[in-house]
Amino acid sequence: MVESCIFCRIAQDNLPSHKVYEDDKILAFLDKYPLARGHVLIIPKAHVSNIDELSGEDAQALFHTLFKLTKAVQRGLKTGSTTIGINNGPDSGQEVPHLHLHIIPRFPGDGGGPVHAVMRQRPSVSDEEMLQITKAVKENISA
Ligand code: AMP
Ligand code: ZN
Repeated sequence: MVESCIFCRIAQDNLPSHKVYEDDKILAFLDKYPLARGHVLIIPKAHVSNIDELSGEDAQALFHTLFKLTKAVQRGLKTGSTTIGINNGPDSGQEVPHLHLHIIPRFPGDGGGPVHAVMRQRPSVSDEEMLQITKAVKENISA
């Protein structure tokens, strides 16, 4: 629990929220400033800022909740599409430094873009760099 963290305070019931799901590890609630009707946030109750700090158990619980709630949101909001995302770290535009998954219902003609819209330009990456990057990622996979 981090006193200054609004999502910790929501998890502790010290701030109001529209909860849609709760268990011992996870809480999900409506985004207060939704990008679409039915915009849901899923958080681990244990405070971590980003995925790097998440325990394996909480990672499993988080993804399992995403699996259940995506279906519930789509059925509840009567749509077959959602955009799912995480702003993971300050350089990604994360505003609340308590890890959260966004589920954003999508509708025909809603004016939104795909995940690819987060970057305006694509870098030009040589074959050699692609190989170096592949190696760098593979070498850093931990158990
Ligand atoms: P991010 O930019 O990924 O950190 O997103 C933070 C999200 O939290 C935004 O979509 C906000 O609308 C949402 N938010 C901020 N304060 C609250 C709150 N008190 N209750 C619910 N959602 C909130
Ligand atoms: Zn927190």
